[in-house]
Amino acid sequence: MTNKIRLKKFLKDFDSYSADKTNFAYRLNANESPFNFENIFNSSALEKKFLKSMKIKDINRYPDSTQDKLKNSILKFYGLKKGQVLIGNGSDELILYILLTLTGKSSKVLYLDPSFSMYKILTKGLGLKGVSVPLSSEFKLDVEKVLKKITLHDPDIIFIASPNNPSGNSFKQEDIIKIVNFSKGIVVVDEAYSDYSDFSFVKSLKSYKNMLIMKTMSKVGFASLRLGFLLGEKSLIDSVDKLRLPYNVSSFSQLIATKFFKDQSIIEKQIGIIKTQRMKVEAFLNKIPDIKVYSSDSNFILIRLKNSDALFSFLKSNDLIVKNFLNNKKLNNCLRITVGLPKENNRLMLLLSNFFNK
Ligand code: PMP
Repeated sequence: MTNKIRLKKFLKDFDSYSADKTNFAYRLNANESPFNFENIFNSSALEKKFLKSMKIKDINRYPDSTQDKLKNSILKFYGLKKGQVLIGNGSDELILYILLTLTGKSSKVLYLDPSFSMYKILTKGLGLKGVSVPLSSEFKLDVEKVLKKITLHDPDIIFIASPNNPSGNSFKQEDIIKIVNFSKGIVVVDEAYSDYSDFSFVKSLKSYKNMLIMKTMSKVGFASLRLGFLLGEKSLIDSVDKLRLPYNVSSFSQLIATKFFKDQSIIEKQIGIIKTQRMKVEAFLNKIPDIKVYSSDSNFILIRLKNSDALFSFLKSNDLIVKNFLNNKKLNNCLRITVGLPKENNRLMLLLSNFFNK
């Protein structure tokens, strides 16, 4: 399907910010300080050695705006072509860019409920019109309901997180494809948690010209880097890039992330551990009659119980925090539990035993 890109009209001939390349010996162009951290930090010899060994030489310089090294390693990893990736300061920032650029026809944005709250927050914040489609009581996607809403509203953007946050489940692939095929606007499949499931749409990207895939490094060990990325057709990626802040990803983040993409063996092992732990915690929770457990494809588990506040407070008083949802009726009495280290999960299970056996 070849869709016309619904770029905001004013962006068609827009002069985006143009940042200079950084590979000059004498850089007197960007009003940076010439003093590097060696001169300004009172760091220990060890810290300096660490920063050097990480090749973080130029704290006084702006990061590489082209982000080419990191982009190349991401593209190589996913088997994609030049121009098919855009990097954001976390995928939160990418949601903002997508909304700023690709909403040039109906100005409507469709998202599911409950799902990741930033879709709605940024849609409203930018004065766009939100179209919310409720998930079933089991957090399943009703594809006919979504198609109806698309017919009615013709949204410019559709956000689908699969696996979904906060429910943890993946939606049926064929349902997502139906939506992509039916929509004239862009469908963003948010795969923030797909490393914990057994599926990704990346391999199908070339078949669906109106699909963007959003990913993040936050859930696999690098939340502090603030690094998300968007994969898709070059023309779409170029459109979203028009309003990207020129230096949106720090040098440090670019460097660490490039290393991560060159060698994922340790991360894959860690993902394996979390998946095993998830099974263990799920099995434990399923044995508690007062808890309803929603099956998860993510690194967290959503549960529903009679009185979530009581359990939440009990855990909190024992120095353990889970996510309590206060403002969404669909998540009434639900708690979302992140799967942690074996030690942390054992502590959780011990506290749950104490709470429910009292
Ligand atoms: N998408 C989903 C579904 C999420 O749950 C989150 C984080 N909670 C994000 C995107 C944002 O991730 P980040 O900005 O850390 O990349």
